[in-house]
Amino acid sequence: YGDASQKIDYVFKVVLIGDSAVGKSQILSRFARNEFSLDSKATIGVEFQTRTLVIQHKSVKAQIWDTAGQERYRAVTSAYYRGAVGAMLVYDITKRQTFDHIPRWLEELRAHADKNIVIILIGNKTDLEDQRAVPTEDAKEFAEKEGLFFLETSALEATNVEEAFLTVLTEIFNIVN
Ligand code: GDP
Ligand code: MG
Repeated sequence: YGDASQKIDYVFKVVLIGDSAVGKSQILSRFARNEFSLDSKATIGVEFQTRTLVIQHKSVKAQIWDTAGQERYRAVTSAYYRGAVGAMLVYDITKRQTFDHIPRWLEELRAHADKNIVIILIGNKTDLEDQRAVPTEDAKEFAEKEGLFFLETSALEATNVEEAFLTVLTEIFNIVN
């Protein structure tokens, strides 16, 4: 989980976006602190967390930004996207509507962010398989069509969260190297 004394070779800003309650804050909490809360309160104020990891012998500080409840008001501003080199586009596999809104989020992202931003589509809450409303195939097909990485995660069970961040960070790393 990073050593404060080490030198940092890279800082990569990554933004989390998607509808409210899909699990963005818990995905971040799982990645940054290996914590999860079932009754997480809506985030207030712009916020990011960092975690430093090593990729190909270089230390990379991931600075992960979390939309501060602004997703409800469509108020995510261009400042949020500024300087971002990665984006995690999150929906809830048990809520079809959150997947149906993904094209809008993608449009917003493409309007505000750098055109070379690395994007991963994430279907969260795979621990609730019995309530699944979005087939994996639908999301996979959409991701392929749009040129996005894709993974399904569970912040609760810590499934694929590390993999999702590593996918984005490694791709960014490869682009800048
Ligand atoms: P955000 O609004 O997108 O930041 O969503 P939150 O991270 O606040 O999560 C919304 C709710 O979903 C909270 O009650 C979380 O505990 C819950 N949640 C988040 N991730 C998961 C998950 O992987 N599985 C389950 N079962 N619940 C989750
Ligand atoms: Mg949140």
